[in-house]
Amino acid sequence: MPVRDRYAPSPTGALHLGGARTVLFNYLFARKMRGQFVLRIEDTDQKRYDPESLASILEGIRWLGLQWDEGPEVGGPYAPYFQSERLSLYQAAAQRLVEAGHAYYCFCTPKRLEALRKEQERAHLPTRYDGHCRNLDPSELKQRLAAGEPGVVRMRIPDGKTVVDDLLRGRLEFDNSTLDDQVLLKSDGFPTYHLAATVDDHEMAMTHVIRGEEWLPSTPKHVLLYQMLGWDPPTFVHLPLVLGPDRAKLSKRHGAASLLEYREMGYLPEAMNNFLAFLGWSPGTGEELFDLDGLVRAFELEKVQSSPAVFDQAKLDSVNAEHIRRLAPGELSRRLRPFVPDEIGDDLLAQATPLVQTRITKLAEAADLVRFFVERPYDYPEGLVSKGSDAAEAAAVLEEARAVFAAGEPGPGLEAALRQVAEKHGWKAGDLFMALRVAIIGSRQSLPLLESSSILGQDEVLARLDAAIATVAGSTGAAASQKPAIAEDEASP
Ligand code: GLU
Repeated sequence: MPVRDRYAPSPTGALHLGGARTVLFNYLFARKMRGQFVLRIEDTDQKRYDPESLASILEGIRWLGLQWDEGPEVGGPYAPYFQSERLSLYQAAAQRLVEAGHAYYCFCTPKRLEALRKEQERAHLPTRYDGHCRNLDPSELKQRLAAGEPGVVRMRIPDGKTVVDDLLRGRLEFDNSTLDDQVLLKSDGFPTYHLAATVDDHEMAMTHVIRGEEWLPSTPKHVLLYQMLGWDPPTFVHLPLVLGPDRAKLSKRHGAASLLEYREMGYLPEAMNNFLAFLGWSPGTGEELFDLDGLVRAFELEKVQSSPAVFDQAKLDSVNAEHIRRLAPGELSRRLRPFVPDEIGDDLLAQATPLVQTRITKLAEAADLVRFFVERPYDYPEGLVSKGSDAAEAAAVLEEARAVFAAGEPGPGLEAALRQVAEKHGWKAGDLFMALRVAIIGSRQSLPLLESSSILGQDEVLARLDAAIATVAGSTGAAASQKPAIAEDEASP
């Protein structure tokens, strides 16, 4: 039987890291087994339905490159893939369950249920339905249905125990007395999650249900539904929880954002996949860097751990930096495009990319690094005058450095010539390069000076040096009250 698995989001919020990890593991397993990965939209909670969240979930999955084989937009043999379009299937299943005595109509009002809940809470009892409508008299039931009284269909949880076989956790036994007589069908004819997911997993021929551990408490109910409906259950796999560094469930509090926010920050999808794959799985070889194809090859569902995974921001950053370093420069330029100012044309960006490549952790950091190509450092920060020197000497040194730039193209010869200038004035070469960096680039932390100068072009470099020299020279003859161009403690590189 070909493997079929699914991601089944409810479009009620953004796709978070835990959800993205579930998508990835389903995708990897389906690809690995040459099966099908299905996307099914569980939109039966009409009140919480949010079209924007649906769009962003699809966008997030597409961004990761985890294209589904069947589902929204692509269709497939088990269409429709929106549960709201499959109501008659759930209603038929509920009807079958009622007829077989596995489910029953319940007419309890919200008011009664609320009072019941409060009473149970006061008595410190688990809150669950008390079975009030479990055994309604058949003729009374008929009458109430005929009169159109709104009612729900509830599952009749039998006595005994239910066994869940989880691929990672083994055999788990649940005492049925802990399970609630779950509502399966609401009075508006919409199913609850439990009925809809079970019916669809069967109808869509799922062989594997791979989902987060938070769904584990629901699984015995699903197993019971399979038994009641006479269907074979799929293989259940509950992926470990994702925790923050403080071991609480991962949330915004830990700085975790929705998946698309990571895109905005300049994480690469290949880095996200690599990182997410290691939230609960590892190949056991020590190898840490994978692209998506590599993950498909290496992935083994049996190697997923059952103990919680811990989110590590520093690890994500380093994986991202590594993937940035691995991109072909042309490809990196393309990825950087949305993050850098438009004034930086494609040619300029292509030239700057190799310089940026080893200096960023996230794509968004490139913006500050390359801005100087199109923005002159107008307000020279301190740093033009080397420690132990003064403005007059600094102007002379910069003037000589300018002559070096004026004489030739940047290259090894130019560096040697600049070192000579520094030596002649008793400056450390590093101090001169720092002053030049401030003059030409406008920042001490920057791309390398000579390569950057070469990209800027001789005219622009000379113009910037002239401006810097004018600033320093202006401060020499000026009143003694003029601020020194550099504070003592900032003079070293
Ligand atoms: N609709 C559920 C969710 O939002 C699906 C859970 C499952 O995979 O069964 O995650």
